[in-house]
Amino acid sequence: MKRFFFILLTFTFVQFWATAQQQTQKTTNDRMVPEMTEIWEPEVTIVQPGIRDADPPSDAIILFDGSDINKEWEDAQGNPTKWLIQDGALVCVRGSGIIKTKRKFESCQLHIEWRTPAEVQGESQGRGNSGVFLQELYEVQVLDSYDNRTYREGQAGSIYKQYAPLVNVSKKPGEWQSYDIIYTAPIFGKDSTTYLVPPRITVFHNGVLIQNNVTLRGPTVYIGIPEYFIKTHGAGSLVLQDHGNPVAFRNIWIREL
Ligand code: MG
Repeated sequence: MKRFFFILLTFTFVQFWATAQQQTQKTTNDRMVPEMTEIWEPEVTIVQPGIRDADPPSDAIILFDGSDINKEWEDAQGNPTKWLIQDGALVCVRGSGIIKTKRKFESCQLHIEWRTPAEVQGESQGRGNSGVFLQELYEVQVLDSYDNRTYREGQAGSIYKQYAPLVNVSKKPGEWQSYDIIYTAPIFGKDSTTYLVPPRITVFHNGVLIQNNVTLRGPTVYIGIPEYFIKTHGAGSLVLQDHGNPVAFRNIWIREL
């Protein structure tokens, strides 16, 4: 019986509390005018868009516009890269190693266009493989995934070995494709081997959403568990992978967030 009265009392109190809350909200809203929820300052920064959506807006850093590689890029050792410019595209040369930006970035919006070789050679991971690494650690896979099966979290647009793309919107070999990537850098606390706030990635492939704000488990690794490789890091270069295939890149621009 005691228990029954206790439950009844609790129920009555919760009901009373909820009604009081609703009344408070109603009273507050009744006392407000529209201007109380309108913020004017500071004015939102004005940016001039590109003529086409793929063109860099006025506040973007141009990382490659078809001309000079050495202004923004270098090889892993900090020397001029052996990658080539052919018809305004930056082409990976087998065995020359990765290229990385001289500037270092954290959270960013990245636009990059890429093309796998028209002449199809190899299969699975051996066909048109490269990659875009955020902060040098987190790979958005570049691969010829047109009629080329491989493991799903290793195909074009995957967050390599962590997330498969939502759909496969790959164009044919030899056709230009685009990635628009939104990357949120991780935050570390005192513990250097776990994220306080993990990194997150959104990717549009040829304009289609294929990664929807996914939370990364750790750095990209070929063998092993990503969580075991987490280590405090700061800003990092944008890296393009040499996986032995002559993948080409063009129109690369970035906006720091
Ligand atoms: Mg790759």
